[in-house]
Order: sequence, then structure tokens, then C-alpha cells
Amino acid sequence: GSVLEIKNLHVEIEGKEILKGVDLTIKGGEFHAIMGPNGTGKSTLASAIMGHPSYEITDGTITLDGEDVLEMEVDERARAGLFLAMQYPSEISGVTTSDFLRSAINARRGEGNEVSLMKFIKGLDEDLDYLEIDKNMATRYLNEGFSGGEKKRNEILQLMQLKPEIAILDEIDSGLDIDALKVVSKGINKMRNENFGCLIITHYQRLLNYITPDYVHVMMRGRVVKSGGPELAKRLEAEGYDWIKEELGIED
Ligand code: ADP
Ligand code: MG
Ligand code: MG
Repeated sequence: GSVLEIKNLHVEIEGKEILKGVDLTIKGGEFHAIMGPNGTGKSTLASAIMGHPSYEITDGTITLDGEDVLEMEVDERARAGLFLAMQYPSEISGVTTSDFLRSAINARRGEGNEVSLMKFIKGLDEDLDYLEIDKNMATRYLNEGFSGGEKKRNEILQLMQLKPEIAILDEIDSGLDIDALKVVSKGINKMRNENFGCLIITHYQRLLNYITPDYVHVMMRGRVVKSGGPELAKRLEAEGYDWIKEELGIED
């Protein structure tokens, strides 16, 4: 499996420091969860890893298997095996889900090693079935007119199809009803193997009833302030974040 290593990451948006020294290592085979109050920098971390242009890295490093991720263009990061499911997936007019997936798969496989159309369709049909997605969705423009739940299922479809080395799933559970939550979790759990590492960003503990993380991290004010096992998420569900603030001596 691969290793994504984030060290002392500082990120600014429009001159304001949002991430203030994040350290995190995710290895193939590991599921990590990041929890934390709203506005604490969780999505900023995800966007910075994927190379969103509005986020300026002012200090620190991100490497994938020792390669400098910060030197890579956005598409190179994807080809290197990084995957981001965004909190608010964007609509892509004129590109069907199916076409999008096929070109993304082929971009990762490289020239001369493209997947055959037959094989692609077979794999796509299997994953659509598994995620209980209507087959028509594959022929619709990506995310255009999709409901919140359909967008999230579609993100997991992309995950299953692309089989990245390391995935970052930002609030993949937000706005899902319980049935959709179960399906989304089922898809993520199916990915579990030694060649797949995952960072699950969530505001609520609920998702972690279906996906058991190996590590739970709490982010506050732009830093990872506490790490532990699944029991940490349970305690946050029961007691909120105040006890951590007290431990750290933060007031607000
Ligand atoms: P979280 O995902 O933990 O809720 P975010 O990473 O979305 O937090 O946001 C962290 C902080 O950065 C917030 O104060 C937010 O207002 C600010 N922020 C995020 N994106 C932008 C942006 N594009 N422009 C200006 N400020 C932003
Ligand atoms: Mg938020
Ligand atoms: Mg967020």
C-alpha cells in the first residue's frame, strides 16, 4: 500500500491562516476519521491535499510514497492515486457519469493500457447494482440535477471504479437518509484492503457506526489536537467537544 504523509502543514486562504501545522500519516489498509466543529479547517485540509488553487501552502510538506505532492498538478495527483470526494460535488454539464468515469480510469491506467469498453461496462454495472443506483444515472450528465443523496452515491461509485491508493471523503454522510448512509458505508467498506487508505471527514459520529475507523483525529482551529481509536468518536458523540477544549485550555 501507499503512504500519504502530511507534515507541519500550514495553509492560508486570502491571506488568512486556516491550517496551523497539521501532521497526519495515512497508510494503505488504514481508515482514519477526522472530526471537529464547523469552520475548523477540515475541508481546507482536503482541498489543500488535492491542490485547490485558492489554498496557499505556506509551510510544511505533503508526500505520497516519498514523492512531493505539492509539486504535482491536480490531474497528476489523481493519476498518482489520490482521490477526493468533495463536500459539495460540482455539476459537469455535457459529460455523462459514464464518460467521466471511463476517461478518469484510463487517465490512471495510462496510454496503451486503456480498459476495454466491454470490461468497463461490466464493472460499472456491477458497482451500480452494488450501490443500488439506477442504471440511467450513468448516462446523465455528472451531478446535474442529482439529489444530495445521488451525488454522494455517485462519489462512492467513482471511488469504487477508480480504486485510488488514498481517498479523502469530505462529509460523505451529510444530508443522507439512513438507507443511503448504509449503502454509502457498504461501498466504502468494500474498498477495505491493504492497498487502500482512507481519510473520512465527518462532523457527526453517525457514519462511524457503519464504518469502523482504525484512528480518529479531532481537528480544532486548524490543528489536529487529539488522536485515538474508535472510542474517541463515541465520546465526542456523547459529550461534544467541550471537554477537549478544557483539556487544551481553550476558551470560546
Ligand atoms: P470545516 O470543513 O472544518 O467546516 P473549512 O475548511 O470549510 O472548515 O473552513 C475553515 C475556515 O476557512 C473557515 O473559517 C472558513 O470560513 C474559511 N474558508 C474556507 N474556505 C474559504 C474560502 N474559499 N474563502 C475564504 N475563507 C474560507
Ligand atoms: Mg463545514
Ligand atoms: Mg467542511
